[in-house]
Amino acid sequence: MSVPVDPLRRCVAQLSRFPGVGERTATRLAYWLLRQDPDVAKEIGEAISALPKHMQRCGRCCNISAIDPCPTCTNPRRSSTLVCVVERPQDIDAIESTGEFTGRYHVLDGVISPLDGIGPDQLRIRELLRRIQPESIQEILIATDPDVEGDATAHYLASLLKPLGLRVTRLAHGIAVGTELEYASRSSVSRAITNRQDL
Ligand SMILES: [Zn+2]
Repeated sequence: MSVPVDPLRRCVAQLSRFPGVGERTATRLAYWLLRQDPDVAKEIGEAISALPKHMQRCGRCCNISAIDPCPTCTNPRRSSTLVCVVERPQDIDAIESTGEFTGRYHVLDGVISPLDGIGPDQLRIRELLRRIQPESIQEILIATDPDVEGDATAHYLASLLKPLGLRVTRLAHGIAVGTELEYASRSSVSRAITNRQDL
C-alpha cells in the first residue's frame, strides 16, 4: 500500500526547485501560504501554470512573448535597421528601462562557452542571420555581458556580420566587468548604449 504524499512536504519540495530558494525559504513560503485566504494559493498556482501555456518564442527576435510576432517586432515606431543582441530575455527589460534604445532586439539564449559545451550552433545565431535581409538591418549592437564569454561571443558575431557589410557595435564599458546586464544600474546601461563602440 502506497503512503499518500503529505501536501505540505510536496509543496516545500516543489518550491525548493526555484533557483535561490532553499528548503528553509520554501518551508517559510509554504506556511505563509497556509495562513492566507485559499484563493491566494489558487491564484499563484494558476499564474505559474499559465506561463508555459501562454508564453512562447517570438518567431523573429526569439524573445518570450504572449503573441508571435511580439509587440516590439511589429511596433512601427521602432527602427528595424538597428538590432540589439542580448543573452537573455530579461536583458531586454534592462535596456528598455533606460528608454534610450529605439531599435529591435534579438535573444541569443546564451553565450559561447566551450567549458559548458556551448558553441555557436547552440545559440540563436541562424535566426539572427535570417532577419538581416527582410528587415534591412544595418547595425547590430551586441549587448552580451562584459565577461570572457560575452566578449568571445561579441567577437564571433562581429566576424560573421562585418563581412556582410553591417556595422557591429558593442555596449561601451559603462558596465562593470562581470556584471550581468539585468543587474546593472539604469544609468550605466544608458551610458553604455550612448557610448557604444565599433567592433
Ligand atoms: Zn519579436
